[in-house]
Amino acid sequence: MAVISQRAHKISPSPTLAITAKAKAMQAEGIDVVNFGAGEPDFDTPQFIKDAAVKSLAAGFTKYTPTAGTADLKKAIVEKLKRENGLDYATNQIIVSLGAKHSIYNAVLATVDPGDEVIIPAPYWVSYPEIVGMAEGKAVYVDADESTGFTVPIEKLRDAVTPNTKMLILNSPSNPTGGVYNRAQIEQIAELAVEKGFYVLSDEIYEKIIYDGREHVSIASLGDEIKKLTITINGFSKAFSMTGWRLGYAAADKEIVSAMAAIQSHSASNLVSFTQPAAVAALNGPSEVVGAMVSEFDKRRKHIVSRLNDIRGITCAMPGGAFYVFPNVSQLFGREFNGKKITDSDSFANYLLEDAKVAVVAGSGFGAGNYVRLSYATSMECIDKGLDRIAEAVAKLG
Ligand code: PMP
Ligand code: GLU
Repeated sequence: MAVISQRAHKISPSPTLAITAKAKAMQAEGIDVVNFGAGEPDFDTPQFIKDAAVKSLAAGFTKYTPTAGTADLKKAIVEKLKRENGLDYATNQIIVSLGAKHSIYNAVLATVDPGDEVIIPAPYWVSYPEIVGMAEGKAVYVDADESTGFTVPIEKLRDAVTPNTKMLILNSPSNPTGGVYNRAQIEQIAELAVEKGFYVLSDEIYEKIIYDGREHVSIASLGDEIKKLTITINGFSKAFSMTGWRLGYAAADKEIVSAMAAIQSHSASNLVSFTQPAAVAALNGPSEVVGAMVSEFDKRRKHIVSRLNDIRGITCAMPGGAFYVFPNVSQLFGREFNGKKITDSDSFANYLLEDAKVAVVAGSGFGAGNYVRLSYATSMECIDKGLDRIAEAVAKLG
């Protein structure tokens, strides 16, 4: 019968992309929406990176490249991982794909069999459970709640491990909470993974967006045994403000990378040819570019947290990394305005969008229904305008 697959039935579209699209569509209609939805830096891609792509396009670098990426790009990634993360990989342990999301998808498909358990700390980034679901794996959620800085205590993690555990997804700094695991915690996780023999998918896309002198620790750098079990994921979207370019990569054991390349060779082939020299330029470019972005994010972080905490009924922890705040809005549940009752994070997010013209993402999609997520990768002016509106909308709730 001509009906869509069971698999497709189970997938819901990405709520982060949906809210971003909705806010942008409203803006295109001339509606003055303040957009805290998008998880994308508001800065333009640095000029020297754009120049490298233009140069390569003009030079006719427009044909298929090797599936896993050009030799130059893989070499630049190997050097980056060594220089910045203390990781020793060979070029045949690197695969470049169409965004970190695509790398995660390929990695999960290459390692997770139907019925395998994948431990996902909650709150989690929206795409992890869906990708695990597409591989017919079983997502096992473990609380990484506010009381522990949005990180999972090792005992809880140990309790969640069963003989069917195939993988843990680690995301530090975290989207949506900004939680950051310290070295001791990462060491404990590495020990557990080695003891029990499960993979760690370490999504390090926010590694550079980290505050107050915190240290980002790449779990694979902690020893050969854990390195063999780890798939390190990274990309260009956040650190270099290149969300639309679709450039991400994975580093892992050769066997895993070969399996990922085989999957990619039948689905996407290579990533866009003329973006690859630009990615090399980004990795080899001046580090001040990223530093300047992070110090601007840091100012916004402190400002938005203080403004949110000034609103009665909202409490917001100070995130240690990434560019999201994740305020608890559950004290507002049960209140209403003009017949619109706030019952959960979705109804609150809808209320803000419709009545205050402010886009935020409901926490439900991240597995945390008492929260909403605001991205502060937007200007200070927008932050103030949006917070004025939220404060007014909340004050109206009876
Ligand atoms: N991981 C996390 C935690 C993210 O927030 C995102 C969203 N940008 C991605 C991966 C995917 O990034 P990319 O744009 O490289 O696909
Ligand atoms: N990762 C970003 C976010 O969480 C971009 C959208 C997406 O890919 O989910 O908003």
